[in-house]
Amino acid sequence: MATIFENALGRLEPVARMLEVSPEVIARLSRPALTARFSIPLRMDDGSLQMFQGYRVQYDTTRGPAKGGVRFHPAVDLDEVTSLAFWMTIKCAVARLPFGGAKGGIAVDPRQLSRMELERLARGYVRAVSDFIGPDRDIPAPDVNTNATIMGWMADEYGQIARVYAPDAFTGKPIELGGSAGREAATGRGALRVLRYLLSQQGKRENEVTVAVQGFGNVGYHFARLARDAGNKIIGVADSKGGIRSQEGLDPDLIMRHKQSRRELKAMLYCDASVCEEADHEVLSPEAFLEQDVDVLVLAALEGQITKQNAARVRARTILEIANGPVSLDADPILRDAGITVLPDVLCNAGGVTVSYFEWVQSRTGFYWDDTQVEARLTNTMVGQAEQVFALSETHGTDLRTGAYALAVKRIAEAMTAKGTVEFFGNGK
Ligand code: NAD
Repeated sequence: MATIFENALGRLEPVARMLEVSPEVIARLSRPALTARFSIPLRMDDGSLQMFQGYRVQYDTTRGPAKGGVRFHPAVDLDEVTSLAFWMTIKCAVARLPFGGAKGGIAVDPRQLSRMELERLARGYVRAVSDFIGPDRDIPAPDVNTNATIMGWMADEYGQIARVYAPDAFTGKPIELGGSAGREAATGRGALRVLRYLLSQQGKRENEVTVAVQGFGNVGYHFARLARDAGNKIIGVADSKGGIRSQEGLDPDLIMRHKQSRRELKAMLYCDASVCEEADHEVLSPEAFLEQDVDVLVLAALEGQITKQNAARVRARTILEIANGPVSLDADPILRDAGITVLPDVLCNAGGVTVSYFEWVQSRTGFYWDDTQVEARLTNTMVGQAEQVFALSETHGTDLRTGAYALAVKRIAEAMTAKGTVEFFGNGK
């Protein structure tokens, strides 16, 4: 079976055919620039020592410093982190941010740790990478199972090591440590902008469209809440334990309040309760959730959810990818042949890194913007880049994913050329 990274790279092939781009650009984009794999020793509360595996991949820095989140999850490995770093490279270029791409993670189930253990682990991660991250080199941010609290600990550890106050070394921080207004909801908000752009192109109104959201964490919850406020009917939500569905529509705020009111875990950062404990609704298995009849299926959990195995059973008319890599390479043609529009991750989830960029700018200048300014600039970026992706796809007669990758590769290629590399090494001259 193909690895996640092989799957991810497969998306470059149609772009290489479509654009007259130097094969050297594709060659350079096919390998990470720097890969770090390290062990993090963690002193547990009971005095024992446990070792954890950590990773940081800086994929490409042609367009600026590397940028990407840190994931805490048992399934984290080099294949996943490298793929996520590749997607960050493409995404930052699609959003036209002055960043390259990176990603990091620790193979850990953070739900098993106490809050103090979690903080020591987060600080241990920063000690392992502090030599090669920093505001002009590589700027980490939150991802799955990491959040503002953890970014606050990490930024503090970095500051202690570097002996500087460097709020621009991390994004997704708490507001009081130099975080940006609007960062937490940014990924969901940005994705909603892209969906609304598609609906306007299709001449549809929000209240005519039903939505089901897989993944009810930071991204999925904020998306569902904002989509409901915009008039969409949320008929399903799911987390790792299963999903619920109601044709009458669900209230994301109520579900989140129920979820959080039950069974907080040791670290006090995570909640072990599931949406499917909601008593009044139809409960769907994870498989049935993806195959339900709905206008827009939102994938906001993890990669590899729609594959060759289940793609033919998808009944949604549109798939909105907010997670990274939720549709595998071999599922693309099946969805395309079924007439399903896929709004691609590298465009749709760029809202998070866009507001991270705004946070970096604000932290560097020490001048902070309010919610309204952040939201207006985010809308500007998301709608502006969505227009370009849709236009490029139409011109070349491709799907939107290929259009988004083409836009990114074109921009990265132009930056490489501007640096002189392609000409210098081209044709052996
Ligand atoms: P999170 O940890 O806050 O939430 C993840 C959610 O997914 C949880 O509700 C979990 O129960 C659910 N989940 C996990 N496996 C599932 C499964 N098999 N089926 C259904 N639900 C499942 O993480 P997040 O920050 O919301 O990130 C979600 C996705 O969005 C990830 O792919 C991440 O890389 C991507 N993303 C996040 C950001 C961000 O700003 N946080 C930005 C861009 C992309």
